[in-house]
Amino acid sequence: MTKPICVVLTGAGISAESGIPTFRAEDGLWAGHKIEEVCTPEALKKNRAKVLDFYNERRRNAQAAQPNAAHLVLVELEKAYDVHIITQNVDDLHERAGSKNVLHLHGELNKARSSFDPDYIVPCFDDQKLEDKDENGYPMRPHIVFFGENVPMLPKAEELVKKADIVIVIGTSLQVYPANGLVNEAPSWAKIYLIDPHPNSGFIRQQVEIIAMKAGAGVPKVVNALLK
Ligand code: NAD
Repeated sequence: MTKPICVVLTGAGISAESGIPTFRAEDGLWAGHKIEEVCTPEALKKNRAKVLDFYNERRRNAQAAQPNAAHLVLVELEKAYDVHIITQNVDDLHERAGSKNVLHLHGELNKARSSFDPDYIVPCFDDQKLEDKDENGYPMRPHIVFFGENVPMLPKAEELVKKADIVIVIGTSLQVYPANGLVNEAPSWAKIYLIDPHPNSGFIRQQVEIIAMKAGAGVPKVVNALLK
């Protein structure tokens, strides 16, 4: 028997209880930095060292973190559902929890790519250095989708959401375009959940069940109900 399809859209909030700061803290900064100074193509051109340092710090922070109850319980969901995780996160906590299908919309900290050839992508578990080059001598950059850049995985993510029977949205402010529109690709019959202590359902056009809780408690609650 084919399993129902469950698409899980996650944002920085799911990793907050693992000790990874979310994107927009109350001061509007990401880990103490102005967003336009660390995650735009202009920032990379202007101050490459600063951008590499910022992501080196994010990588170290993510590597020191462990998956929490929310990441772990999503693996349990695979017993009864065909689960596809679409994450805006650049950490690898879903993979380390054991989730099988994880699509990273905004890139991955543990990869580096050529600033010339977008298909030249290599593993990167240590700090990136200014002198790192691809095989043709072009500088390497973080494998991160910066603000203002295309989101190459978007069409694949849209295809997945279009097939969903259930969509679970977790820990995202739904402020980052175009990821915030994905949930609206779900079929009209799909059941939609939003788990976030400060839920922003303004972007979601369909009926949505809101669980205004942190992921560590809210995700097990929803998953256990779905597995009953
Ligand atoms: P965001 O920071 O804009 O929003 C975070 C959301 O998480 C908020 O709605 C907040 O209420 C919620 N939240 C806070 N604590 C929570 C908890 N314990 N449980 C559940 N929800 C909680 O994040 P976003 O919408 O994902 O957009 C952020 C962008 O920044 C993404 O593009 C992402 O690539 C990047 N980012 C990634 C990471 C990561 O990989 N872990 C961390 C920070 C930023």
